Amino acid sequence: MSDAHLPPLYARWMDAHLGGRIPEETRATCSNCAMAPPAGEPMGPGQFDPNTKCCTYVPRLPNFLVGAVLADEDPEAAAGRATVEARMLAGVGVTPLGLARPPAWDLVYRHGVVRSDAAFGRVRSLRCPHFLVDGRCGIWKHREGVCTTWFCRHDRGAVGFAFWEALGGFLSMLERALSYDAVLAYGLDGAALRRLVDGPLPPDGPALDGHQAPEIRRRNWGVWYERERELYVATAGRVERMRWDEVRRVAGPEGEAHGQVVLAAWEALVWATTPERLRLARLGTVEIGRETAAIVTHRTYDPIEVPSRLLPHLARFDGRPTELVREELARLGTPVDAGLVQRLVDWEVLVAV
Ligand code: SF4
Ligand code: SF4
Repeated sequence: MSDAHLPPLYARWMDAHLGGRIPEETRATCSNCAMAPPAGEPMGPGQFDPNTKCCTYVPRLPNFLVGAVLADEDPEAAAGRATVEARMLAGVGVTPLGLARPPAWDLVYRHGVVRSDAAFGRVRSLRCPHFLVDGRCGIWKHREGVCTTWFCRHDRGAVGFAFWEALGGFLSMLERALSYDAVLAYGLDGAALRRLVDGPLPPDGPALDGHQAPEIRRRNWGVWYERERELYVATAGRVERMRWDEVRRVAGPEGEAHGQVVLAAWEALVWATTPERLRLARLGTVEIGRETAAIVTHRTYDPIEVPSRLLPHLARFDGRPTELVREELARLGTPVDAGLVQRLVDWEVLVAV
């Protein structure tokens, strides 16, 4: 497997789709979280709580990933499996399509609270139910598209960000299409199918309290009522057995469009090219230190650090040939090597003319 940092199923799909490997994001050091303060130090502004990391999020798990977790007999996976079983037992948002977010959490999420700087990565009550006490993800091997593609930092700045955003969109789209394909294949009956298409009912009291009324559960599951686990495991087997061309057939034209966008973003990620003429972009926040300056561009978590002495000279990139500007900077005693120019391009400090 070339993309061992992806869940095995998604790595197999991307091997077939891209025909090459996806570079790892080495700056997102999840087992020793890059956004958390050093051990024993308090959490500062812009840092994440090590007890949540970036997992102030509740993933929607498509049926085939729920099934993959349930069928995973690795003793190492037992704790994570228990977190999925707990969501199933509560029953809220548990449908043949998979596990939706609990409505109370979803309301907070939709109001943008979760994504605010004050809450994201910092508020323990918003933590994912699959986050284990030792700080690991309990369902890492079978995590969904958003969790697979979210990184706080990217080795190639905005270029990496764009690639993973595109891949996240593709995987989420595939998850939706394949979970519908599976419920159709396993003969969900008309009324229950109608419930899925109509979308969730407005949350009632029990659902807001974190448990589902039995009559709603019966309606949601139709012929599969009280055989939820069986359906999930069956869908996992079905999707696992599909070849990539079969997955793409299920995804249809929308999948084709996503696939092309991902391929283009991947090519940009693996083949770095420096434009022949560059100009300075409009910059966001710049924090200037004695030796280095941090420039925020596409993402606050991931500023680019440059030598402070370079800042007054960046405007020399004014559309003239890049090599000419580099020679000029070298004459002024501020040489900029090709690697730094590429990073300035990757972080969108310099943009092609
Ligand atoms: S991606 Fe999340 S867990 Fe990984 S280093 Fe970044 S904030 Fe920490
Ligand atoms: S599923 Fe795993 S990676 Fe995703 S939010 Fe939960 S703990 Fe984090």
